[in-house]
Amino acid sequence: MTAIIEARDAHLAFGQTPALRGATLAVGDGEIVAVMGPSGSGKSTLLHCLAGILVPDRGEILFDGARVDRLDETRRSTLRRDRFGFVFQFGQLVPELTAEDNVALPLLLGGARRADAVRRARSWFARLGLDGLEQRRSGELSGGQAQRVALARALVAEPRVLFADEPTGALDSLTGEQVMDLMVDAARANGTTVVIVTHEARVAAYADRQVIVRDGRVHALAGARGAS
Ligand code: ADP
Ligand code: MG
Repeated sequence: MTAIIEARDAHLAFGQTPALRGATLAVGDGEIVAVMGPSGSGKSTLLHCLAGILVPDRGEILFDGARVDRLDETRRSTLRRDRFGFVFQFGQLVPELTAEDNVALPLLLGGARRADAVRRARSWFARLGLDGLEQRRSGELSGGQAQRVALARALVAEPRVLFADEPTGALDSLTGEQVMDLMVDAARANGTTVVIVTHEARVAAYADRQVIVRDGRVHALAGARGAS
């Protein structure tokens, strides 16, 4: 397996609180990995380290074989903008912007011309069952619609890796499954690698492989579908 994103023996403490204590995880190019584990075990911290949002105190983070943990914040933020997409549990859309402008935002920040950004953003509305919602603001969307807009925004710049932290945590289970179906279909169609943090077994079942974080370390989950 060629790893696209990897943590090697990552340690990170918040003051006296250890969050990662030797976390090692290699995610293959195009693989969908679910990161499970109890609350407070270090799942979000691991995702933030993999995504170059946080830098571990010790250990290595690699993207495409290059050390992310050695980059300064400016370069890591460029890496995040150009190569990664993010979906979180809550409050990700800019409330003042229309749904369409929210989706176009990463392209505009990346220097795209407005007409091109809007055209590419619009193509995602049909794809994610959001037709007709382009001009709505986030307050005028249901939770599932808002999360699909957030998914469109995460995918519009065609990231190599999509990081999702409890993306269905605020949704009822049917709506959560619809979001997961769309996320996984889009990722597979584009060959996008996905790292998804979830404590829901039904959500984790969409992944090729499931791992468990306990006390800041990553463990393989025996018997997971697609495990190798
Ligand atoms: P999970 O996502 O598995 O619930 P986290 O990675 O958020 O766990 O947290 C791991 C540990 O680090 C927990 O003990 C948590 O309280 C602590 N922690 C996480 N983020 C911070 C922070 N910004 N400041 C202080 N402690 C934090
Ligand atoms: Mg978390």
